[in-house]
Amino acid sequence: MIKRETIDAIVSACRIEEVVGDFVHLTKRGVNLIGLCPFHDEKTPSFNVSPARGIYKCFGCGEAGNAIRFVMQYEKCTYVEALRYLAKKYGITVEETERTPEAIRQMNEREALMAVSEFAASFFSDNLWKSTEGRNIGLSYFHERGFTDETIMKFRLGYSLSNRTALLDKAVNEGYTADNLEKAGLVLPPRQGEDDRRSDRFYERVMFPIQNFSGRVIAFGGRTLRSGDKKIAKYVNSPETEIYHKSDTLYGIFQARNAIRKADKCLLVEGYADVISMHQAGIENVVASSGTSLTANQVRLIRKLTNNVTVVYDGDAAGIHAAERAVGMMLKEGLDIRIVTLPPEDDPDSFARSHSLQEIEEYIANGERDFLKFRIDRFLQQPDHDDPLKKAAFIRAVAEDLALIPDSITLSVFVRQSSEMLEVSEDVLLSAVNKIRVRRYVEEKQRQSAPAEQEAAEAAEALVPEPSREKPVPDTPAFLTIADVERALLFRLVNYGDRMLVLEQEGEEPRIMRLDEMVFNDLEQDQLELETPLYHKFYNMYKEAFLRQPETVLQQLQYSQDEEVLQLYTALQDVKPAYSSGWKQRKSIIHTIDDQDELLREDLLDVLHNLRLMHLRKMKEECELALKTEQEEEEMLILLSKIRQINEYITIIEKKLGVTYR
Ligand SMILES: [Zn+2]
Repeated sequence: MIKRETIDAIVSACRIEEVVGDFVHLTKRGVNLIGLCPFHDEKTPSFNVSPARGIYKCFGCGEAGNAIRFVMQYEKCTYVEALRYLAKKYGITVEETERTPEAIRQMNEREALMAVSEFAASFFSDNLWKSTEGRNIGLSYFHERGFTDETIMKFRLGYSLSNRTALLDKAVNEGYTADNLEKAGLVLPPRQGEDDRRSDRFYERVMFPIQNFSGRVIAFGGRTLRSGDKKIAKYVNSPETEIYHKSDTLYGIFQARNAIRKADKCLLVEGYADVISMHQAGIENVVASSGTSLTANQVRLIRKLTNNVTVVYDGDAAGIHAAERAVGMMLKEGLDIRIVTLPPEDDPDSFARSHSLQEIEEYIANGERDFLKFRIDRFLQQPDHDDPLKKAAFIRAVAEDLALIPDSITLSVFVRQSSEMLEVSEDVLLSAVNKIRVRRYVEEKQRQSAPAEQEAAEAAEALVPEPSREKPVPDTPAFLTIADVERALLFRLVNYGDRMLVLEQEGEEPRIMRLDEMVFNDLEQDQLELETPLYHKFYNMYKEAFLRQPETVLQQLQYSQDEEVLQLYTALQDVKPAYSSGWKQRKSIIHTIDDQDELLREDLLDVLHNLRLMHLRKMKEECELALKTEQEEEEMLILLSKIRQINEYITIIEKKLGVTYR
């Protein structure tokens, strides 16, 4: 038990912004600080920290509390663990009442496994520094590799003795249970046929403790120094345990986290030695993935600290391949990724040991390129890159990567850049990317069960067509063609464009805006354009006039030099209003400025819904037509699924319109 005085000392020393700041990148916002919430997935910050009140609160997910609560939530740890962590951070000596074997048993399992792992780390470290075997074999090996004593201590490197029960015996003697040693992955269960004793997992190896974000030891990697013996695995690692999940862990994150935040950049390498050598060279914002491809959780760990990652992998072909594979997950999570390759004969470890800090920094600064430029440059260096089949395959591969980018502005920049480098038109590349997005979307949908209404709407949004220049769809009811609906829309712009309407959208405050503005917003949302050429032209001129000066839109149109537009303008003024009839039944509450405006608003929504409906029907037509000629089974499935989704969206809109015509 921790003494009351210690708890008081910890509480008064804690500064919430420092505690949270170790895990979350915070920026100043008035008297408070703000950052990305670590408790839910978000891309715009809603996580607030108030230094004055000593608390944090997330306006996205509602998570809130003080410094201790934060550590408990973040590390998923107990109150006692959180206190220990904070005590360590603020250099407060934890005074506790005697820890009896009974008290150790009472600790909950996670705490117990962390405790036994910590004990093992100290034990391995003591072996390295104090035992003859450890000094002669382990320490001299680290020194030969060029690690300084300071570095060895910083990463808490150690040595496991050749005695196969050294850790087990010592730990049990100190009051830890063999069960917990086994659950922490430190001790192997008794093997059948042999004596029924347990034995240590790690023996005769140099030891690399793996620490979590807050520095707790959760696992180990052990490397043998018997290079000749093929029967002995070079590396032995802890298995997955209650406290260690390999896919959630990045080696070196504890030692690197402050440097990453400060540099606003994270270097990613492959192995333990890479991380350690880079640190020793003075580059501290570096972590290792300890595997070839990153997991989503590892990427999120990085994203808590920075959005910028530079992958520093070996200069050989395998390293480059691994670097390219690491990219996918990072793209998906919206990170800015750069890649730098080392000279072919080097890995980050050897490179860091043979160069000065300044040389390494310069090499990275000059050599790093964004992932796409990196890939394309490499492709263009191949002697047969002009081969049409090779090139087409490569462009498809690039499109697969691009389709992962969640942010549309970033995507457009990359599409332009790659289309220039590959000498392929931007449109072609973008349409390939969009196809992949649709395909992935459809696949994702198929994996899930029947989509709910909302998802169907999203599906349709993802499928919103490029504007087509064809004639109205043949099977549309004769009284309603796309041109009819478009004309109806223009009529409303010309006659009622300046009327103020109340716009209500779910989850938003009602806003008052001009009718024409509402139309612009609505069409832009789905990137819908009018497709009858004259109407298209008229609409754009109207919009341009509006952007120049909203008050004089009509005057500007009247002075248009375009005969066609002038004629249409006049004609539209002659048309009688053609309000649809559905609005009366649907309108139950009137919350607009007056009834007249509510009528206008409902009517406008009808027109916009109809326009969408027309486009969807046409898309459906196109899909059905394509289905007739499609031979590939896979493509047919995609088309069928598309049609199903379009139908669902059509139903939603028809429901809104209060009509059904099929
Ligand atoms: Zn949150």
